[in-house]
Amino acid sequence: MGKKSVCFRCHHCGHCCKDVVCLPTPGDVERIVKHTGANPFEFLVFLTPDELTGVEKNDPTWLKVDGEKYIMGLKRDRKGCYFRDAKAKHCGVYAHRPLLCRLYPCKLHEGRSGEFRGFSLHEDVGCPRHRDGEVDAQALYAIYQEDHLNQQDYQDLVEYFNQKEYPGKKPEDFIEVFIEVRRAKKTPAKRAGAPGTGRKKAAKAG
Ligand code: SF4
Ligand code: SF4
Repeated sequence: MGKKSVCFRCHHCGHCCKDVVCLPTPGDVERIVKHTGANPFEFLVFLTPDELTGVEKNDPTWLKVDGEKYIMGLKRDRKGCYFRDAKAKHCGVYAHRPLLCRLYPCKLHEGRSGEFRGFSLHEDVGCPRHRDGEVDAQALYAIYQEDHLNQQDYQDLVEYFNQKEYPGKKPEDFIEVFIEVRRAKKTPAKRAGAPGTGRKKAAKAG
């Protein structure tokens, strides 16, 4: 386990972009849209529990619509992830890719009181885990912390969405909901609002 660095080099075998479904957060989606102009209604898909494995039944990011559950993922086809450039065998949005893609296949280790202990490589994933490189563990930890905040925000947004009931509700509506709520949270007037305008409150605005 490396506290300063992790011995790893990606050899671009493509496994994590071809065989694994990427589940971005709304923060990831927003960054991709902002920097690439891609249309989230085109690159996102909403998957049912039958369509993927490895997500716990009680995961807080399941969207609930008309008695069915959905989770937001990046669309895939035979070449793999929507953003995979099959010719170049590379990620087409590499500089803006989801934080989970940047962390893969590293696994965080924390002490009992949550202190940072370092990273190792996940044993149970399909990455060949070549160890001929060195990745800065502190930089990885910063990504992990950002992703952790994004995940919390994601859960608030899903909770808000799941409480909404209206005729014709579709899982894709979640895209509009999170864009609108996150935009409202960034508006100075809302941010400087009355006491209680915290994340939860802001997520329930609008
Ligand atoms: S966003 Fe990029 S790095 Fe992530 S799975 Fe898709 S192609 Fe791979
Ligand atoms: S599975 Fe591992 S080596 Fe292959 S592209 Fe992904 S990170 Fe790189």
